[in-house]
Amino acid sequence: MSDYLVNYIDAHAEELLALGDELFHHPELGFKETETKKTIQKFLDRHDLKIDREYALTGFSVTIGEGRPHIGLVAELDAIPTQGHPCADPLTTAAHACGHSTQVGIMLGVMAALKDDPNRPAGTVTLFFTPAEEFTDMEYRKGLVKEGKIAYCSGKQNMLAEHVLDDVDCLIHVHAMSDKNWRFSLGSVLSGFVYKKITFLGKASHAAALPEMGINALHECTLFISAINMLRETFRDEDVVRLHGIIDNGGNTVNSIPDRVVYECYVRSVNPDVIREVNAKVSQAAEHCAKALGGSCVIEDTPGYLPLHQSEELNEVILDSMLKFTPDNTIRRGEISPAAGDVGDISLFKPIIQYGYGGFSGAIHGADLAIDDPQEVYLTQPKVVGMAVLDLLAHPEKVKHITDSFKPKMTFEEYIAYLNGK
Ligand SMILES: [Zn+2]
Repeated sequence: MSDYLVNYIDAHAEELLALGDELFHHPELGFKETETKKTIQKFLDRHDLKIDREYALTGFSVTIGEGRPHIGLVAELDAIPTQGHPCADPLTTAAHACGHSTQVGIMLGVMAALKDDPNRPAGTVTLFFTPAEEFTDMEYRKGLVKEGKIAYCSGKQNMLAEHVLDDVDCLIHVHAMSDKNWRFSLGSVLSGFVYKKITFLGKASHAAALPEMGINALHECTLFISAINMLRETFRDEDVVRLHGIIDNGGNTVNSIPDRVVYECYVRSVNPDVIREVNAKVSQAAEHCAKALGGSCVIEDTPGYLPLHQSEELNEVILDSMLKFTPDNTIRRGEISPAAGDVGDISLFKPIIQYGYGGFSGAIHGADLAIDDPQEVYLTQPKVVGMAVLDLLAHPEKVKHITDSFKPKMTFEEYIAYLNGK
């Protein structure tokens, strides 16, 4: 075990805990992470680390070392709208209810500790700060796409399209988890999803005096929600299908029959073919429910993320590192999660892992998510990740085996066609 790395983290505990606190209290939505960048920049300046590349509007990376192997680290910058979270931004309701700010704190700890580590073998380590993981705030993002500032709605989709990750051999990512039964989660599978926006159209008329002249778009939507709830019995457990939505415009005034209602939803599964099948059923239900009441609907599908498949060999490396800090029976294995992340898209092209870490109370994406064990989050995790990076740098043959045995799951051209909805 590198005593330098462990001692470095412990010696800088106060600074790392304060950094984590500052990041957690200044949440920003995706592609708007400018204050977060300033906080990171202050830390980088103190540790003589430099931003070497910018991409995907608000993303950037920091590199140490040179040559191969080239190990990538991933830290997500963005927060999620969370009404009522005590640290929510009063204007945007953004809060770090998904814990992404803690990834930033952890990975900065790793970079600072590795930078001057006399035991660090040759090779390159790049920390990729990735914007806009949460698939939200879509009107703003679609505006950015129209203006040509981004090509796609998520940070990592843009990074892949911009070839930001091409040079790395493999990547390590970490994510908060709120399951109190475990200290770590290793080797989970994440779902993929498609994002749907369905606009039900009817005809407005006086709601009391002339209902016979109207076509009620809210009723079309209600019928549709009943229909998709009936479809649920067709879902197979092993496909881990999740179908969830919101009505974000239910009509304009109570006096008039609603003529336009917008329903947004995700169709999720761990199986991309099943996402397509269920998506087709949902579209069919929307069209026919609208027609059944004399109305119509407009369906807009936006490709979301693809399921995460992790590199088993890379997980063996991180497991060795975890076991230096925790007994085996505290590590959950092989969870099949209905949650999704754009880290799944990276797993199409590069060996990558994402492990889960505890130290939180409340629910992920809930107004009550809090960090209840800051030492576990900000001090233990940089040690686990840092030791794994040192192991990989010290054993280029392990990295070579990981990259040689990796098979891309799509070609770059197929991926771009998928993102473009083709
Ligand atoms: Zn997240």
